[in-house]
Amino acid sequence: MKILSTTAEIQAYTKEMKAQGKTIGLVPTMGALHEGHLTLMRRARKENDIVIVSDFVNPTQFGPNEDFDKYPRVFDADCEKMETVPVDAVFHPEPSEMYPDGYCTYVNVEGDITHKLCGAQRPGHFRGVATVVTKLMNLSRADRAYFGQKDAQQVVVVKRFVADLNINVEIVMVPISREESGLARSSRNRYMSDAEKEAALVLSRSLRKGEAAYEGGEKNVEAIKKIVSDEIKKEKLATIDYVDVYSFPELLPIETINEPTLLAIAVKIGKTRLIDNVIIGGDTK
Ligand code: AMP
Repeated sequence: MKILSTTAEIQAYTKEMKAQGKTIGLVPTMGALHEGHLTLMRRARKENDIVIVSDFVNPTQFGPNEDFDKYPRVFDADCEKMETVPVDAVFHPEPSEMYPDGYCTYVNVEGDITHKLCGAQRPGHFRGVATVVTKLMNLSRADRAYFGQKDAQQVVVVKRFVADLNINVEIVMVPISREESGLARSSRNRYMSDAEKEAALVLSRSLRKGEAAYEGGEKNVEAIKKIVSDEIKKEKLATIDYVDVYSFPELLPIETINEPTLLAIAVKIGKTRLIDNVIIGGDTK
């Protein structure tokens, strides 16, 4: 597995791979890899000649009071995990390599899809994501890029700017990988104590309740939101950031569910903010 740490290195590598006629799959990550990340990489492995993973804690997508400094950085352990896929190359730059002195260009997805859900709670977050993903797509010359449904709004935003900016990359959404307990895998799970991890099961449990109500015939959005919120409120360590329902992938407000629909939640367990979601009411493609 090649370790590439400068933009010049990754550009030389991908130029060579393209000259050889290889297809390239890109998996953008912030490291602290877990099984969820590996499911993206394995999918990329199946569908492309070359798999490139970026392992980069991107400063521009964190707000001033968020966990950028504290975010886990465990590159050696990440490499061991990537070798098992296996991955061809990992791009692991310093922030100053991606944003050198004088840097002043950002990709800003305007409009409603970035202002709701996590966008409402994390101003500037999607600007940072869109900027770094655009740079990574350019550097990697990817044919396909892989993103988790875990960050469903991110998938919608990425698909939007890729279409708007005529970027020639196919975006693939991969289902959420969960622990046996139902907890969605996340790099932030390692912040939690055992008691908090137990409390965090309320996220997937509440979503399952909402989904079961829908499957039992409940189509009213407010009723489903109430079922989910009531379940979360039973957990003392949990504080709701949002419980929301939108059409998917348009992210438009709806009152009744009769199309593919995103039921998404963000919940703080102690100090750790977790997100989870389920897509109900149809084909998720
Ligand atoms: P992150 O390192 O948290 O920025 O995540 C990198 C990519 O992995 C994103 O596309 C995430 O949506 C995806 N991802 C993170 N956790 C999961 C999970 N539990 N299941 C599927 N994909 C995930």
